Amino acid sequence: MAVRNQPETRWAWVEVDRGALRKNVRAFRRLLRGRERLCCVVKADAYGHGASECCQIMQQAGADMFAVATVAEGVQLRETGIKLPVLVLSEPPIEAIPTLLAYNVMPSVYTVEFALAYGECAVQAGTVGRYHLAIETGMNRIGVPCTEALEFRRSIDFHRGLECDGVFTHFATADDPDGWDYQLQRKRFDEAVAALRDAGLEVGTVHCDNTPATIFDPASHYDMVRVGIGLYGLMPCESARGRIELAPVMSVRARVTRTAHPAMGEGVGYGFTYRVPRTTVQICTLPIGYADGLARTLSNRMEVLYRGQRVRQVGNICMDQCMVAIQQTTVRPMPEAEVGDVMTIVGRDGDDEITMDEMAALRGTINYEVACGFGMRLDKVYV
Ligand SMILES: *Cc1c(COP(=O)(O)O)cnc(C)c1O
Repeated sequence: MAVRNQPETRWAWVEVDRGALRKNVRAFRRLLRGRERLCCVVKADAYGHGASECCQIMQQAGADMFAVATVAEGVQLRETGIKLPVLVLSEPPIEAIPTLLAYNVMPSVYTVEFALAYGECAVQAGTVGRYHLAIETGMNRIGVPCTEALEFRRSIDFHRGLECDGVFTHFATADDPDGWDYQLQRKRFDEAVAALRDAGLEVGTVHCDNTPATIFDPASHYDMVRVGIGLYGLMPCESARGRIELAPVMSVRARVTRTAHPAMGEGVGYGFTYRVPRTTVQICTLPIGYADGLARTLSNRMEVLYRGQRVRQVGNICMDQCMVAIQQTTVRPMPEAEVGDVMTIVGRDGDDEITMDEMAALRGTINYEVACGFGMRLDKVYV
């Protein structure tokens, strides 16, 4: 297949489709009624897609805010010139407070100790410490228990160095919006926000929706939604398919670095978990392995696309390389590969496509983890 772009130093890479990313951001913008803001979740280097590049595109396409998982990720956005508000989706260590203030990155807050230290530091720096209050409504991960939100605010609101910029929670079962668990979380959140409002406290931006809640439950959009996986063109669950039109953003490709025709009975890779059945098998080496996100559990179970057709991966996947076998059959004659030929590990080639979901199913995990994995070491090219 024709390659529009590729890294210079390694024949394996993640291809990020800028147009698809732009299209997905706009699709979510259209889903919102206009007043609601769109917070793009770009944690884990934008789910492996490269946060610096993706944020620029998202900003142009209509993002209002960015959310990250760590302070370092927030700092990275500032260093690449992002000016929109940035929220860290958990409460960082107290030691991170000077960095948060210096880079204007907002923390999530749920301990009095952190909140007061943050306010104190902000006053000393001659600024105000804006934060989002995380409320625990059922996920049992982070946040102030929903029944204690008012009490929590009362114990920190005296501090003139603090400003509540938002209040949020996170759903554990947003893929089942009719379920009791989801409804209970919503109810608890509504009650906690109402209690704060009734007490006359500033709540700022109220938000709770991740991708599935944004798609399934427009009534819960409130002031803002936090969309992650959907922006990258991946469905949060099967039932979301058909509800919104999204285009996959990430493809993973590699060029053949070596070809050989080992004799019948020869083994391939560590442990010889594959042996050449007959001499008409061509073994091709690809420079991508489990340290690149190609999980070793896929060994001898996955396929890659070559000239729009599926070929089997064979032998144990190594840390940095793997092998595939081109095997001629009478029903499917296939040209042998040459060094430099492109193979597609995830993505479209001709009429066929290997999706993140297909790979996730083979691995027994979710598309989120597959995308993040490929983002960790592979070079990214933006097409
Ligand atoms: C990761 C995350 C999101 C985004 O979730 P998606 O399912 O990817 O849309 C939103 N909010 C919080 C708190 C998160 O941790």
